[in-house]
Amino acid sequence: MIRLDGVTMQYPDGTLAVDDLSLTAPDREITVLVGPSGCGKTTTLRMINRMVQPTSGSVSIDGTDIMSMDAAELRRGIGYVIQHGGLFPHHTVERNVAAVPILLGTPKRQALSRARELLELVGLDPALGRRYPSQLSGGQQQRIGVARALAADPPVMLMDEPFSAVDPVVREQLQEEFLRLQAELGKTIVMVTHDIDEAIKLGDHVAVMRVGGKIGQFARPHELLAHPADAFVADFLGRDRGYRALGFDAADIPIHPESTVAIGASVSAAQREAGHDGWTLVVDPERHPLGWIRPAVLPDDGSVDEGALALGGTLATAGGPLRVALDAALSSPSRRGVVVDDDGVLMGTCLATEVLDVIESRDRPRDPGAEGG
Ligand code: ADP
Repeated sequence: MIRLDGVTMQYPDGTLAVDDLSLTAPDREITVLVGPSGCGKTTTLRMINRMVQPTSGSVSIDGTDIMSMDAAELRRGIGYVIQHGGLFPHHTVERNVAAVPILLGTPKRQALSRARELLELVGLDPALGRRYPSQLSGGQQQRIGVARALAADPPVMLMDEPFSAVDPVVREQLQEEFLRLQAELGKTIVMVTHDIDEAIKLGDHVAVMRVGGKIGQFARPHELLAHPADAFVADFLGRDRGYRALGFDAADIPIHPESTVAIGASVSAAQREAGHDGWTLVVDPERHPLGWIRPAVLPDDGSVDEGALALGGTLATAGGPLRVALDAALSSPSRRGVVVDDDGVLMGTCLATEVLDVIESRDRPRDPGAEGG
């Protein structure tokens, strides 16, 4: 656990970069510092590995004040990733990745072999290890920056705008891979970005900072979107924050059982009477949803044929985004959104009101002990 306690940083020229800031970054989670340029994010990050020493206040890692630790030892436990990867241009990629272990005395051959494993871990062909940084794309260089920070297997990672030097498509790929990697490695991460979408996507906790080095709000992404603390935070989150909340996954929406009728079958009298609002869901023999019918308007024999089906718009999947679940419910003629599993087999239906309830319910902190600042 990284703890900043009332830290203030005033540069020698008088600039007050960070002002009495307190923050706790929990173990094995991603804490993101986000805010406009010049608000003190980088200064805050650099106080954690002592590249900047606060004018007042304290920083501790797992309860130990970092000022009482040997600086070299402190930094050995902290991986540091910066924009553009910060690679040495005159060293090969694998030599770059192996730089810290070699510095720490790992035999060169062993360090290089480990470097090639790390390249694979971050999604690169180990053969790229023989190239020089300038022979790689921006996205590849960024991945190598991450591999290098991981080389000494530090429990803590500090990342300063690690994905901002690449185009949006590559950036999205890097973010996805980073989340996959973190799920596997469980590092304690503090990351800086100026991009609120990135903060919301990657952060377990997000600190929104304002110019002058103060925290406007420290919360989980859902709480931020649902309840911005003040006008500054709301403004920084932007007008489409409700829309962003819909990007979260729909894993915990209630799925209701739905009575169905098979294509080609006849709708029983019972179903005609029982169908909610008169709409019944038609499925194929493998229980893939085909569309909705209103049994009340079928011919007397009640047989279901494809021509009579009203198709809903979207199908939702259980782990997919809330946006899709909401769309499925609103575009369905029965107003019940059809939810399928990964194979497209019917699981049940969801209601728009319950999708909105899920967004609301996620405002409540899941881990109040982790909140700080
Ligand atoms: P951010 O990362 O949010 O862009 P920084 O931490 O880099 O913000 O900077 C915060 C403030 O401190 C800015 O006003 C910046 O100009 C100033 N600053 C940063 N580094 C120095 C320095 N070495 N000397 C003087 N002022 C600095």
